[in-house]
Amino acid sequence: MAATDHTYDAVVIGGGPSGATAAHQLARQGRSVLLLDRAGRIKPCGGAIPPRLIRDFQIPDHLLVARIRCARMVAPSDARVDIPIEGGFVGMVDRGPFDEWLRERAAQAGAVRVTGSFERFERDADGAARLHLRRADGSAASVRARCVVGADGARSELARQAVPGAECGRFVFAYHEILRTPEQPPASYDGARCDVVYRGEFSPDFYGWVFPHGPTLSVGTGSADKGFSLRSATAALRRASGLEGAQTLRREGAPIPLQPLPRWDNGRDVVLAGDAAGVVAPASGEGIYYAMASGQLAAEAVEACLRSGDARALAQARKRFMGAHGRVFWVLGMMQRFWYGSDRRRERFVAICRDRDVQQLTFEAYMNKQLVRARPLAHVRIFFKDMAHLLGLARV
Ligand SMILES: Cc1cc2nc3c(=O)[nH]c(=O)nc-3n(C[C@H](O)[C@H](O)[C@H](O)COP(=O)(O)OP(=O)(O)OC[C@H]3O[C@@H](n4cnc5c(N)ncnc54)[C@H](O)[C@@H]3O)c2cc1C
Repeated sequence: MAATDHTYDAVVIGGGPSGATAAHQLARQGRSVLLLDRAGRIKPCGGAIPPRLIRDFQIPDHLLVARIRCARMVAPSDARVDIPIEGGFVGMVDRGPFDEWLRERAAQAGAVRVTGSFERFERDADGAARLHLRRADGSAASVRARCVVGADGARSELARQAVPGAECGRFVFAYHEILRTPEQPPASYDGARCDVVYRGEFSPDFYGWVFPHGPTLSVGTGSADKGFSLRSATAALRRASGLEGAQTLRREGAPIPLQPLPRWDNGRDVVLAGDAAGVVAPASGEGIYYAMASGQLAAEAVEACLRSGDARALAQARKRFMGAHGRVFWVLGMMQRFWYGSDRRRERFVAICRDRDVQQLTFEAYMNKQLVRARPLAHVRIFFKDMAHLLGLARV
């Protein structure tokens, strides 16, 4: 493929969860779709996915490398709160095979897969979008598109070139190490439990984690503080978890966006999704579900735009996403700013998680992406308990 005059209905840049979902959705509706993804790199990721994602996007069992039945919250004092996951599990996926399966599903539905890098966004004389790319073998090529989905991850190159306001994103930098699960793991390790560790030593503004993946595991941390050494903190977390001697298979990191961009579209023919649009939940750093949900909404917006010829339809992707998840993002953002601010507050935060009402509400929000409205009394109880903790009236 060199320069071509064939015009695709949609070109999707990036074949992670958001781009593969958008390409799949458009291709199965009969649209001509090109899915472009860079070769080789596995996305650094803890790989935890909620049941809602498994359900909504029909993820087959064989992609789940572990099923998590409990989350352990660890306070700075080492006090622990175990939160059982009742009536379900959190799935763990390895991003190499998971992303490849999603891209292949899009191809099965009719999307044309191309391996290479997007480089430049231009317009032909007739106004159509032309995307210049570099193929895996080093050759240059370009394609024309009626619409473009930008799903090329955090600090998206397409967003930078085509969508106003894209430069204003904020980020946490996350780093993790993939270890081989020891044949005789430390007594504190449980292959069906995710540990979330809140201690300033491991992160001044986020958290450290130990996530099991069957034969491997992910241990890592994140911070927005550029001066904070994520490698040293991860080494300390490995020591604290009895995992310092485990074999290290990979060391890798990537930025996580902290807030949705103010605009996801250019008012004409480009719409963003996933990390490119900034949609990762604050406080938890959960992005795979939101990437896929926004990929689906971007595809629906592109479909509406192609059908009606009205480019204003593209703005619906952000509007509908924020309508469904904006409130949860806001609450989580407040939570991160307040509770992750010092070890004293982190201690109180973990103590709050002991509360059954808090556990049920947060888990319903995580597992099924719903703020439960049916239990107003629980909300009132939590409000008063939160206030007691905020004011230091409750004992930790
Ligand atoms: C260390 C870490 C741990 C995390 N843990 C979790 C977790 O446990 N659970 C969770 O839900 N979320 C987690 N996240 C967040 C999650 O990984 C992301 O939110 C999610 O991957 C976003 O999906 P995406 O498709 O938008 O972007 P990405 O997954 O980043 O995919 C972007 C794709 O675009 C391609 N690309 C980039 N530039 C170009 C280009 N110029 N041309 C062509 N292709 C390009 C890339 O190769 C990639 O395939 C974690 C993130 C990090 C960094």
